[in-house]
Amino acid sequence: MTARRYVVRTYGCQMNEHDSERISGLLDACGYEPAAGIDDADVVVLNTCCIRENADNKLYGNLGHLKSIKDQRPDLQIAVAGCLAQKDGEQIRARAPYVDVVFGTHNVGRAADLLATARVDGPITEIAEPSGDTDTFASALPTRRDVSYAGWVTIQVGCDNSCAFCIVPAVRGPEVSRPFLDLVAEVEALAADGVTEVTLLGQNVNSYGRDLARAERRAGGDVAIRPMFADLLRAIGSVAGIRRVRYTSPHPKDLRPETIAAMAETPSVCEHLHLPLQAGSDSVLAAMHRGYTADRFLERLASARAGIDDLAVSTDIIVAFPGETEADFNQTLDVVAEAAFDSAYTFIFSPRPGTEAAAMADRFVSPEVGVDRLERLKAVVERSALMANQARIGRTEEVLVEGPSKRDPAMLTGRTRQNRLVHFATPDGGLAAGSYCTVTVTGAAPHHLRGQMAERGDRPRHRTKIPVVAA
Ligand code: SF4
Repeated sequence: MTARRYVVRTYGCQMNEHDSERISGLLDACGYEPAAGIDDADVVVLNTCCIRENADNKLYGNLGHLKSIKDQRPDLQIAVAGCLAQKDGEQIRARAPYVDVVFGTHNVGRAADLLATARVDGPITEIAEPSGDTDTFASALPTRRDVSYAGWVTIQVGCDNSCAFCIVPAVRGPEVSRPFLDLVAEVEALAADGVTEVTLLGQNVNSYGRDLARAERRAGGDVAIRPMFADLLRAIGSVAGIRRVRYTSPHPKDLRPETIAAMAETPSVCEHLHLPLQAGSDSVLAAMHRGYTADRFLERLASARAGIDDLAVSTDIIVAFPGETEADFNQTLDVVAEAAFDSAYTFIFSPRPGTEAAAMADRFVSPEVGVDRLERLKAVVERSALMANQARIGRTEEVLVEGPSKRDPAMLTGRTRQNRLVHFATPDGGLAAGSYCTVTVTGAAPHHLRGQMAERGDRPRHRTKIPVVAA
């Protein structure tokens, strides 16, 4: 009997990409094989995201396409997973009755069972509620990594905050941290498999461990509240073979001096901090329930830059949040100029059903104003990004090779420790993805560097090559 073949299509954030690796790993463990594409797949899993704009429209557009394939090949199984599945559950099958399986973010581990059950008993929807049980972590399941030299490690799921624009607390539940020693063991296993770069994932990584300490105290233990994220950075950063540790995303209100010290004192922790500002107006920040003022954000940023040599800082910013006035927006521009970010992900507010901000329709800002503000914001970000990149010209930087450059296949692309994208030439051809080298920077643009390889470094020694299709 030939094995059934699968494709996992991923939408949204790194947390979802990591869940997709686990879904793929589970299917592998159950005898499925990866397909080259949808045309030769027997199972298509759409791992959805409800954070990005028009997520519903994109999902139903893709499902419509899959339906036409399923009409020709009725044995094709279609599964919908991820945040949108968690949020909408049965509604998905009501709109797309040809979907075979719908499962949420808390029962990723049931993917293979549900697909098998649906083949016998017919379509099935199973949405688990957050249980606080660490068995539900995707990281505790088998994995199939899409990049062999780098690995994601989920350290925490859920979020205890209540940002007015965000659906995460509703679909991922309250914060649940994985046990410290499990995480260290997982990184040791990744290192043994040849992984040299790990990225620690969580919705609010720097509050890692808060729930563990609370639970310990409730059980009668004498656990002082301590910055366990800092401890975790130090422990994971000292695993043999791990050369780079990154993490995303921390919350500015929880960025503690101990975390800054751990970053500064752990050589493998990269000199890059993603610190989401979201807005520079105190009244907008209050309406968003972000828990800090613009001044507090700038103070935390200044502490991080003072404590960590050569730190690059990226951020997220939303313009046209409900009620944002021109004066509010100008304050954002002022804060962004002062912060001099190295890069930024910028968005126009769009309401996500189920969030507090979606109910603020009477204060929505017009789309034209949103577009105008986004362009003005991007101009300010690009100015500081270009200056920061130009300041690298003439320097020689360590680069982790990602592969041939998409712009020019004769060049290679990689990332510096500061997470800057660099396109570079080599005198004698290719270096495999996962290799390290040094590159002398010769040119700069707002979003990348250009350079020439200076010296070859270590070759990759990973063993696993994994295809997970990103959408
Ligand atoms: S901190 Fe705010 S934006 Fe981030 S996941 Fe939690 S609620 Fe969402």
